[in-house]
Amino acid sequence: MAPDSPDVSRTRLDTYVDRYAARTQGMTASEIRALFAVASRPEVVSLAGGMPNISGLPLDVVGAAIADLVTQRGPVALQYSSGQGDPTLREQICEVMALEGIEAHPDDVVVTVGSQQAVDLVTRVFCDPGDVVICEAPSYVGALGVFKAFQCQVVHAEMDADGLVPDALRQAIAATRAAGKTIKFLYTIPSFHNPAGVTMSAPRRAEILDICRSEGVLILEDNPYGLLGFDGEPMRALRADEAEGVIYLGSFSKTFSPGLRVGWALAPHAVREKLVLAQESATLCPPAFNQMAVSAYLQAHDWQGQVKQLREMYRERRDAMIEALHDLMPAACRWNVPHGGFFVWMSLPPGIDAKAMLPRAVTARVAYVPGTAFFADGFGSGSIRLSFCYPTPERIREGVRRLAGVLEEEMEL
Ligand code: PMP
Repeated sequence: MAPDSPDVSRTRLDTYVDRYAARTQGMTASEIRALFAVASRPEVVSLAGGMPNISGLPLDVVGAAIADLVTQRGPVALQYSSGQGDPTLREQICEVMALEGIEAHPDDVVVTVGSQQAVDLVTRVFCDPGDVVICEAPSYVGALGVFKAFQCQVVHAEMDADGLVPDALRQAIAATRAAGKTIKFLYTIPSFHNPAGVTMSAPRRAEILDICRSEGVLILEDNPYGLLGFDGEPMRALRADEAEGVIYLGSFSKTFSPGLRVGWALAPHAVREKLVLAQESATLCPPAFNQMAVSAYLQAHDWQGQVKQLREMYRERRDAMIEALHDLMPAACRWNVPHGGFFVWMSLPPGIDAKAMLPRAVTARVAYVPGTAFFADGFGSGSIRLSFCYPTPERIREGVRRLAGVLEEEMEL
């Protein structure tokens, strides 16, 4: 679909339009999805999508593990399985989470079809139409899409260089309650935020946990990038210091393979039971084959060494992007330097609209995501998300050069 073409479900072209459930009104194609078709043309440098770069994966190891899976454990791998997920994988997931200070029991883990499905299941279990989810400003477009589809109201709370601002959270809680609305949870991406690139500092983590404890607000901690930090050890997860008030989401998409679609939720025991029921109703069970493939990979390979290589590759790309921005962008642009993950958030010179500029950028063969995609309320038009995960350092520099050219022309208009 072209970036601005109308959503067919809202037009008279769709003869079913009067029959859909009210919730489908919140289901619209994200700005990112619309962009993919354009941005994937080879001549366009895409700084838009957040596709992990999996070119360094040891395909021989993966291939051998998968061949063994079929020949040696085929009758189990090709069969229906538990709605909660493979027990061996759930144990391995606990070992992965231990790297972020989390002590968990495999019984409290539910395997999901990517962490995207975990966001969906948690929302399905907790939210009625009109319930409020507090999100950072900006927030992950895929989660905003889920909240919209369940007819939740998103209330944004500001971030700064240390992550979510405690006073902004307090205010969001107070204003929402004063308006008579129910807050179901705070959705936060504390490490290497998508799209803002910032990481919640350790003191900030303690403060946010304190506020949520004293206000009785559940936290949904979404942490797909936690092991992809560029300097030093992974940060302690929020869940490491609060077991009852936090539902933690993780994923193998960024550390291994997004195509296998294996993620998970770690939840307090009672919530875990509801999530399993929701999972059974959605899929019967997450795919046994994919889970066993991940499990076999973790066992057969030095996966932590692989993650180290990924970190080095992404760090090099982050450096290439920051250097290019520094060398080439007009002086009025502002950006942050992320310490992990995939994304840089950039503010444009005053008066420039990111969405209006996009077709001109694509004509100049560079793509980005306009900031408005990451807000539920139309804000963000003065900012863009730039991803450095996929293109090579040379392509990143070329993309930034093209974008700087477009911005200079905009400023002259
Ligand atoms: N949460 C965040 C913050 C993400 O950036 C993504 C992927 N872009 C996801 C969840 C979903 O990841 P997956 O379903 O592949 O695990």
